[in-house]
Amino acid sequence: MSYQQEVDKRRTFAIISHPDAGKTTITEKVLLFGKALQKAGTVKGRGSNQHAKSDWMEMEKERGISVTTSVMQFPYGECLVNLLDTPGHEDFSEDTYRTLTAVDSCLMVIDAAKGVEDRTRKLMEVTRLRDTPIITFMNKLDRDIRDPMELLDEVETELNIACAPVTWPIGCGKEFKGVYHIHRDETILYQSGHGHTIQDVRIVKGLDNPELDAAVGGVLAQQLRDELELVVGASHEFELEPFLAGELTPVFFGTALGNFGVDHMLDGLTAWAPKPQGRATSERDVDASEEKFSGFVFKIQANMDPKHRDRIAFCRIVSGKYEKGMKMHQPRIGKDVRISDAVTFMAGDRDVLDEAYAGDIIGLHNHGSIQIGDTFTAGETFRFTGIPNFAPELFRRIRLRDPLKQKQLLKGLVQLSEEGAVQVFRPLINNDLIVGAVGVLQFDVVVARLKSEYNVDAIYEAVNVATARWVDCKDAKKLDEFKRKAEANLALDGGDNLTYIAPTRVNLSLAEERYPDVTFRATREH
Ligand code: GDP
Repeated sequence: MSYQQEVDKRRTFAIISHPDAGKTTITEKVLLFGKALQKAGTVKGRGSNQHAKSDWMEMEKERGISVTTSVMQFPYGECLVNLLDTPGHEDFSEDTYRTLTAVDSCLMVIDAAKGVEDRTRKLMEVTRLRDTPIITFMNKLDRDIRDPMELLDEVETELNIACAPVTWPIGCGKEFKGVYHIHRDETILYQSGHGHTIQDVRIVKGLDNPELDAAVGGVLAQQLRDELELVVGASHEFELEPFLAGELTPVFFGTALGNFGVDHMLDGLTAWAPKPQGRATSERDVDASEEKFSGFVFKIQANMDPKHRDRIAFCRIVSGKYEKGMKMHQPRIGKDVRISDAVTFMAGDRDVLDEAYAGDIIGLHNHGSIQIGDTFTAGETFRFTGIPNFAPELFRRIRLRDPLKQKQLLKGLVQLSEEGAVQVFRPLINNDLIVGAVGVLQFDVVVARLKSEYNVDAIYEAVNVATARWVDCKDAKKLDEFKRKAEANLALDGGDNLTYIAPTRVNLSLAEERYPDVTFRATREH
């Protein structure tokens, strides 16, 4: 197979959804179709810990797919699909956002009984930044759901994306009979109780086929015909171009738990979702058709497998091919590194892979020299742009129980901040260590990991910081003056970037007014 053919068959996507909408269940079924799992149902332990504080640690222990981003590659039809999992808990949203920079399309899963929920709204905003194409799956049709037409309306008005139903449901809850596939002009019948396996399905061709009435009952069959007339008039027809521009989403209906409809969605995804896309860099746009290797790190994860006590940097290949033992250039440190043991994650197992192509994710062993946002190239010095860091909203001073371990603490915090687990700020005027987080759960995770991975016992204290901004100024003289005058509010983050830490939002506004030549940024690109 030629390089271009290898690239063209790849599809790299992530699932966005509100917690409990069914992301994990869909992931299981998707893998089932990818033949990666013989029998679905083993992805994540379920139980009372779903949203408890111990959630992260419990799940971390299980090393389940949901904990933090993992990558699953599986074949589907003619395609090779990469599914990047994103942590569901809100406190890990930074990881999620960055993962969305590494995919070419997204599957939006909506609980059809609930409609558009908070977190979906937020995540959709993030996908809008790059106009990522969106495929929609309306889940839980085996329950009593809201009126499908109303659901489409809600998606259109709340998320500002046109809906093009590809399938249409027949009944719901106990009366859920299946879906009519608008493009194929056939009804696919649902049988409950077969969620764990791939079923032979019964298909009825055509809408006017009397077999349809026999199969779903005359009332529902007529209702389907009436609804479809309405739907065709009131909604959009699927078109590739607006889909690829992120303006229109194909919509599928089904039940992940009942393993119904997921394959229709996968058929759509593999047929329409974009092949690996290029990315912008500091110097030029890189296209996936270029055979020279390039990629960027969007996530670093520690100790995924207790047997391998190392950290893995997840690198999205933007162009070219990874081969075992190849040399890569790391522009940030200006060095070449030889990579002999990149890993992939097939249904949870780590395999040493021999080659990977644009669109794939590889895991690089990281002993501290790789940071989030790092670029790897075949020798060029450009850097990929657009991998965001978000200003934290929550701050605590962190202190040791045993003051002799200050060095260990700093090392741990800097490494955890490189990983994106937390952000650390060191004020210019004292030796405090201030930890900043986007979600409160991060604080607990950091203390637990400091203890288990760095053997330091740390505690938190309140600190008078309300918000932080990365600061910069083109005029070196003005920057110096600003640094002198505002010293009490300045700190360095984990990557030594100058940051303004404000005790109140009012203080921040005043500082912004007072120093008009200084830019204050709420996000920072790596
Ligand atoms: P996540 O939080 O988005 O990963 O959601 P999960 O996949 O863990 O699902 C949340 C809950 O909804 C679980 O109890 C699932 O069994 C259930 N669930 C998922 N899909 C369906 C479905 O199609 N029908 C029904 N009735 N329940 C579902």
